[in-house]
Amino acid sequence: PDPDQALLASLLGPAGPMQRRALAKTITLLESTRADHRLRADELLNAVLPHTGRALRLGISGVPGVGKSTFIEALGLHLIGRGHRVAVLAVDPSSSVSGGSILGDKTRMERLSSDERAFIRPSPAGRTLGGVAEKTREAMLVCEAAGHDVVIVETVGVGQSETAVANMTDMFVLLQLPNAGDDLQAIKKGVMELADLVVINKADLDPDAATRARAQITSALRFLGPHAAAPAQVLQLSALKGSGLDEFWAAVSGFNERQRTSGRLAARRRAQDEAWMWDRIEAGLRQRFKQHPAVRDALPAITDDVLSGRLAASVAARRLLDLMD
Ligand code: GDP
Repeated sequence: PDPDQALLASLLGPAGPMQRRALAKTITLLESTRADHRLRADELLNAVLPHTGRALRLGISGVPGVGKSTFIEALGLHLIGRGHRVAVLAVDPSSSVSGGSILGDKTRMERLSSDERAFIRPSPAGRTLGGVAEKTREAMLVCEAAGHDVVIVETVGVGQSETAVANMTDMFVLLQLPNAGDDLQAIKKGVMELADLVVINKADLDPDAATRARAQITSALRFLGPHAAAPAQVLQLSALKGSGLDEFWAAVSGFNERQRTSGRLAARRRAQDEAWMWDRIEAGLRQRFKQHPAVRDALPAITDDVLSGRLAASVAARRLLDLMD
C-alpha cells in the first residue's frame, strides 16, 4: 500500500502515540523544502481538508516576557482537564533571521508538552514571514484533522507576524503587561486594533496597576479600528497563579459563539482563505519572475538604467514583466 495512505489513516485514526507520530511526520513533510516532499504534503493536505475547520483557532501574541508560554501552558492544561485536545503552534520569523528564536526552545511548556492530549510544535524556520506563516497555517489544518479542537497559534509582539497570525485564526488575543507605556506601544504599532480580546497578565504583581491598565485600554479601544463599534473585551489575569482562566475561556467561548451565529466566523475564514491564496500566488510569482532566465539576464542592466536615471522605474518593471511572456 501507498505509505502515505497509512500515514493518512493514522492521522485520521484514534488519538494516541500512532497519531502523534503521524502528525509530526506530516508536518515535517510540509515543512520540507524538497520538491517530492512538497508534492506528498500537498496530497495529504487535500486529503485531510474535509476533516478540518471544526477547531477553535486562537491567536496569541505579546512582547517577549509578557508571559505567553506561562499562559499557554496554564490554559492548555486547564482545557485538557475539561476534555479538549489542544495543539500549540508558533510563528517566529526571528529564528530564520538571527538563528535564534524569540519564542525559545522546545523545553518551554514542559508539563503541557509531556501530556498526550496536547501537541506542541515550535515555529518552522523559513526565509520569509510568508513562508513561515504558510507552514504554520498548513500545520494547523493537519492538527484539526487529527482531532485537536483548540489550536493555539503563538507569535511575538515584534514585526509583522501578528498580522499573519490574526489572519489565520478565528480570534486574536493580545497579552499586555500591567503598565501604561506598553499599551501605547501596541496602539502605535496598530496591533491593538487586531485584537479581539486583550488580556493584562501578571495582575498578581500589582493589582491596582492592572486595574488602571484595564480601564485605559478599554477606553482606548473605543476609538480604534474595525472594532470601534463593538470594542474588544479587556481582562486581567495571572498566568503564573492560574487565576482568571475560567473568565478568559468564557470570554473566548462567548466571542466565538457570537461570531459563529452571526455568520462572521464563516465570512472571516472565507476572506482569510482567499487572501491567503493571493498572498501565496504573489509570493510564487515573484519567485518565478526572479528565476526566469530572460529576466535574470536582463535584470542587472535594466536595474543599472533605473539607478542611473536613464529609465523610469515603472517602464523598467513593464519591460521585465514582458520578458516573462
Ligand atoms: P514569554 O516570553 O511571553 O513566553 O513569557 P514567559 O511565559 O516565558 O514568562 C516570562 C516571565 O514572566 C517568567 O519568569 C514567568 O514566570 C513570569 N510570569 C508569567 N506570567 C506571570 C504572571 O501572571 N505573574 C507573574 N508574577 N509572573 C509571570
